[in-house]
Amino acid sequence: MKRRVCLLGATGSIGESTLDVIARHPDRFEVVALAANSSVDKLAAQCARFRPAHAALLDAEAAQSLRERLRAEGIATQVHAGEAGLAAVAALPEADTVLAAIVGAAGLAPTLAAARAGKRILLANKEALVIGGALFMRAVREGGATLLPVDSEHNAIFQCLPPGYDGHPQGAGVRRILLTASGGPFRNRPLEDLADVTPDEACAHPNWSMGRKISVDSATMMNKGLEVIEAHWLFGAGGDAIEVLLHPQSVVHSLVEYADGSVIAQLGHPDMRTPIAQALAYPERIDAGVAQLDLAALGALSFERPDLARFPCLALAFRALEEGGTAPAVLNAANEVAVAAFLAGQARFTDIAAACAEALERVDSEHAESLEVALAADARARAEARAFLGLGELPRRGTAKAH
Ligand code: NAD
Ligand code: MG
Repeated sequence: MKRRVCLLGATGSIGESTLDVIARHPDRFEVVALAANSSVDKLAAQCARFRPAHAALLDAEAAQSLRERLRAEGIATQVHAGEAGLAAVAALPEADTVLAAIVGAAGLAPTLAAARAGKRILLANKEALVIGGALFMRAVREGGATLLPVDSEHNAIFQCLPPGYDGHPQGAGVRRILLTASGGPFRNRPLEDLADVTPDEACAHPNWSMGRKISVDSATMMNKGLEVIEAHWLFGAGGDAIEVLLHPQSVVHSLVEYADGSVIAQLGHPDMRTPIAQALAYPERIDAGVAQLDLAALGALSFERPDLARFPCLALAFRALEEGGTAPAVLNAANEVAVAAFLAGQARFTDIAAACAEALERVDSEHAESLEVALAADARARAEARAFLGLGELPRRGTAKAH
């Protein structure tokens, strides 16, 4: 039986890698829905190629142009619009699998809709779990959904854990989770230069090709901080059982250490098609179009401890995880605002960590038991970060630059 896939964030970096894998296996996968923010041209081309029954764009005008374009081309895809349209395609009865690859907080509501509808969720959108961890995991349980991590580190950890792992590290003999991080483009940049680095320098990741928001997150290592929180929710480990390890080659994607001293790692090229294919086909294995790993050609792999003075965002994330409640949502929201401002030339690279620290300081953490509470904390943190960065007020909730 074919897996019927809804792809949220189809026009982005993860979206395109997913379609690349799916296109290699027309016998296994069928694209039922494609969704994105506003890029009509890209989504129209994807609809022409994959002929999904449904498409959705957040932007209503863009959705209308897509509708007209597809009609003119004789393509029978039904086009949905707005937040309701995104939630509708995420919960379509015709789809069994939802790949969640919208960037940022905007992905939370549709991914929650997929969880409540009991889908098999392949999660790339880590921010959804950072903002709404407790309620998202509850929705997965109550909706009878299955959650498979696509983020490369978490996908690696998933592969290193025993089959049927139930979210209790001690019960499974797990002592620690070791998350690897490349250290990004500024791992060796003199600290005093960091205030003046440009968005293009920050987005020039040495190993991975990704969307601009996550590329900046990798440069600040906020990405790894968000991933620590993501690992907490996915695998049930506390902050004291998660260690971050710098590994500049990005070949070991993460490791799990067991009570008997065994350390199990997953290795591969830094190509997201590997974890995407692993999650799409799980528990089977399929060709992802990724070249074989030649360890002899690589010669050596190296590891070091991260320097928290260089990467203050990493320390902030551990702090937010320890504080719990809405603190991770606050951290994520302030980061989204600051990264968008940095990418728009309105803030310095070093302002990102400062804005996040300020928001964590000023917005008190509360129990995050509902979506409303999490989104209220998110809104307060955005306002604090905007005020701190001197950006003025926004009429509606913004997200980092989208396609
Ligand atoms: P991207 O910027 O390349 O793509 C983002 C996608 O989300 C686009 O399709 C865009 O149209 C859509 N989008 C943006 N805002 C939206 C909104 N408000 N409503 C609906 N759709 C919206 O980002 P990416 O690099 O593909 O990353 C996507 C997610 O996957 C992020 O959460 C990121 O952290 C995670 N992730 C990415 C990578 C990677 O290698 N790129 C690796 C691990 C995890
Ligand atoms: Mg990752």
